[in-house]
Amino acid sequence: MAVSIDLKAPQARTGLAENVQAENLLAERAIASKAASSAVPGAAPGEEKPSLIGLSREELGEALVSVGVERRQIKMRVAQLWQWLYVRGVADFSQMANVSKDLREKLAAAFTIARPEIVTEQVSVDGTRKWVLRFPAKGAGRPVEIETVYIPEEGRGTLCVSSQVGCTLTCTFCHTGTQRLVRNLTADEIVGQVLLARDRLGDFPEAATPAGAIVPSEGRLVSNVVMMGMGEPLYNFDAVKAALAVVSDGEGLALSKRRITLSTSGVVPMIEKAGAEMGVMLAISLHAVRDELRDELVPINKKYPLKDLLAACRAYPGLSNARRITFEYVMLKGVNDSLADAKALVQILKGIPAKINLIPFNPWPGSAYDCSDWDQIERFADAVNQAGYASPIRTPRGRDIFAACGQLKSESERMRKKDRDSLEAARVTELAAG
Ligand code: SAH
Ligand code: SF4
Repeated sequence: MAVSIDLKAPQARTGLAENVQAENLLAERAIASKAASSAVPGAAPGEEKPSLIGLSREELGEALVSVGVERRQIKMRVAQLWQWLYVRGVADFSQMANVSKDLREKLAAAFTIARPEIVTEQVSVDGTRKWVLRFPAKGAGRPVEIETVYIPEEGRGTLCVSSQVGCTLTCTFCHTGTQRLVRNLTADEIVGQVLLARDRLGDFPEAATPAGAIVPSEGRLVSNVVMMGMGEPLYNFDAVKAALAVVSDGEGLALSKRRITLSTSGVVPMIEKAGAEMGVMLAISLHAVRDELRDELVPINKKYPLKDLLAACRAYPGLSNARRITFEYVMLKGVNDSLADAKALVQILKGIPAKINLIPFNPWPGSAYDCSDWDQIERFADAVNQAGYASPIRTPRGRDIFAACGQLKSESERMRKKDRDSLEAARVTELAAG
């Protein structure tokens, strides 16, 4: 079967179109909430109030019971709140016009529905947006920062969502892999990334899209969600599952499960469970076709080698030609980009309804690899196409704001590195002086 592919040249690496240091609209509320927190259910003195975002309907019902709503009213109240939170997208209880003032005040005293705090918002020349978001400390920890990226294309807008702060895995080509795991994100923090993006893009009713924003010309601005930000989503299974249930709920954010993709480095024992319980599309970070090389690039392969990974893919619930698995393959010069690799790739995927996604490697400072030459990427794509796969080469996006795949790294980690570097510089100066 002849399949045409869409080859686009990388975007020019020009400067930032816009770099907005967003106002911290939530600071006042956070201070107020701290003052009130000792009197509210669910929050220990000095702790943040629990969020109502990301809860299931049952959990939301229990939260309402805890502030005194009568059981016979729960179903109706849950439906009202669901509509405000996920259809209208309000971030303040006071906007919930059909909820009594008394209940709004009780809810505001006990819970939060605030968005994540925006540390920075950057907009690339190609319209890609990257937010560094800060979430409050959980328990004894410190506040954490993660990145969320929005990629507008003709006909769709994809939001790349993080599931963890850092990662326990150490894929050698991935910037996040150099960062230790700080903690898992909670369901409210995962859903919060979607709400925040829709807010900032004006993708809720009665909200305006920022002037000049590059967005799809029709349809929803956030039409797809990919769990391809920081972290390994299958190592944060429960929170990711709860969050995606909310994101795909037909009476709320209502994103079809076919428009939600979970990407995993290959946590084999969780793959079947993810398919059965989440029912979203699956992407596998494959990157190598031989165990020896994959052990090096994606070290989880030592635990779950290719044979087991591919068997789990074959058994993925709901797999069909209409619901294919995407295999991601990062193009590393002289490492995994030979034509023999391309042939072996086609060979090992035989019998699996699959799409192949060739990702030009995004270099980062200190990375040990180079991106394959463009000619080689084309030759590789041709070989894959000849076997009947449509293998679009993922156009590099947002490179001017370091928003591309695998470049996501938390601000706090960058700060720690800066501290380490300046300490190191001070030591060197001391040694030189003394
Ligand atoms: N942890 C999950 C999801 C996050 S990574 C996973 O590994 O699948 C999302 C995708 O970006 C993965 O396919 C990952 O392999 C790829 N990636 C990581 N670093 C990259 C880089 N520097 N250049 C290109 N792709 C990269
Ligand atoms: Fe973690 Fe995925 Fe990066 Fe590997 S590629 S280190 S699993 S985020």
